[in-house]
Amino acid sequence: MAERSLLMVPGPVEISPRVLGAFSTPPPGHTAPALIEAFGESLERMRRVWAADPTSQPFVVGGGGTLAMDMAVYNLVSPGDRVLVVKSGFFSDRLAAMLRRQGASTIEVGAEPGETPAVESVREALASARAGGPFTALFAAHVDTSTGVRIDPEPLARLAREEGMLAVFDGVSGAGGEVFNMAEWDVDVYLTASQKALGLPPGLALMVVSARALAVRASRSGPPPPMYLDWETWRPVQRAYEERRASYFSTPPTNLVLALAAGLAEIESEGVAARITRHARAGSALRSAWSALGLRLLPAREDLAANTLSALCLPAVPIQPTDSRARAESRDRHWVGVEAPAVVARIAEHGVTVATGLLAKLSSRYFRVGHMGWVVGRPDLLRRTVAAVAAGLSDCGLGAGAEAERRALAALDVVQEW
Ligand code: PMP
Repeated sequence: MAERSLLMVPGPVEISPRVLGAFSTPPPGHTAPALIEAFGESLERMRRVWAADPTSQPFVVGGGGTLAMDMAVYNLVSPGDRVLVVKSGFFSDRLAAMLRRQGASTIEVGAEPGETPAVESVREALASARAGGPFTALFAAHVDTSTGVRIDPEPLARLAREEGMLAVFDGVSGAGGEVFNMAEWDVDVYLTASQKALGLPPGLALMVVSARALAVRASRSGPPPPMYLDWETWRPVQRAYEERRASYFSTPPTNLVLALAAGLAEIESEGVAARITRHARAGSALRSAWSALGLRLLPAREDLAANTLSALCLPAVPIQPTDSRARAESRDRHWVGVEAPAVVARIAEHGVTVATGLLAKLSSRYFRVGHMGWVVGRPDLLRRTVAAVAAGLSDCGLGAGAEAERRALAALDVVQEW
């Protein structure tokens, strides 16, 4: 049997032996004592991993990140509400599309790919739109996985407070891998999915909701959200499990709940801050490796580059004026004609799966490598990834040479093993 490819896309991710062990058991029932304990413990651990207030409510629901986004939208926003969306790529565009679908009137503040709008321009957009009435909420993606751009949530959360808006952050590629202090920043919703930096298999929508946001949902007039999306439907279930009682609204993915408890225990036994520092160290080492290989980051500045994934632009090789065939194949005069999906396919032939770009207009130019969860403490797997990327580039005529590859691999020496 061929060796399994190493999964280095920005979710789903490789999982630890402990999480895999917890997951790989015959499914417990939703009333089994072990399941009740794992569920209750997970909710308690989520509050700590999110650095959330004791009055906040964690939710564990079968689904994914998109479900968690829809839950935030449908519980907090009513048709006709005005909502501000800070956009930094595909997933913040998705948030805006969901809000419009719910009938909200959105003010969307965007930036060029690889950038994020400055807080000042968000503030100005609000000021110039204020005459139209108050805003209900601010929505943003902490890390937009399409661009690898990380925003700074703290000043945006502060702005939301000043303006009396709820603050909602999509932390799907952030939670467990990037600093996020929910209580200190007074954030209302921080949501994620299991298959990212928390290091679990896909299948869970996870979010922590502030008491203020729960009150907004509870006092809302008009038609309630669809039943599966409604925090009011799920709250008694979450409360019961936290009190170590079984409950039922819709069957939870019980093996995933066991994996969640194991994954969060793993994070807490290291310490949340230490785990995030580990992501930062791996992210920075990989950025040095990519630079040695001649790859440029899509994020415009180092401080915008997420620690959980790298969005990498292929080197643009100028076409020789005499090379008419290459020029004919090229999209513009600075491009050799090697497209990113072809590079991703060659990297896969070297045993590592990375991801193509998600931004349609740049998809020929860049690809993405995930580095979140368990792999950030596995320098051997990170080396395998860098070596496969180097080999794939080289196959496509974009190699940087043996000395550059040696430097790229050496950059990973700072990564500490679990
Ligand atoms: N938001 C972000 C930032 C994401 O990266 C993703 C998934 N890549 C989602 C939302 C959607 O999550 P899911 O695919 O689990 O629905």
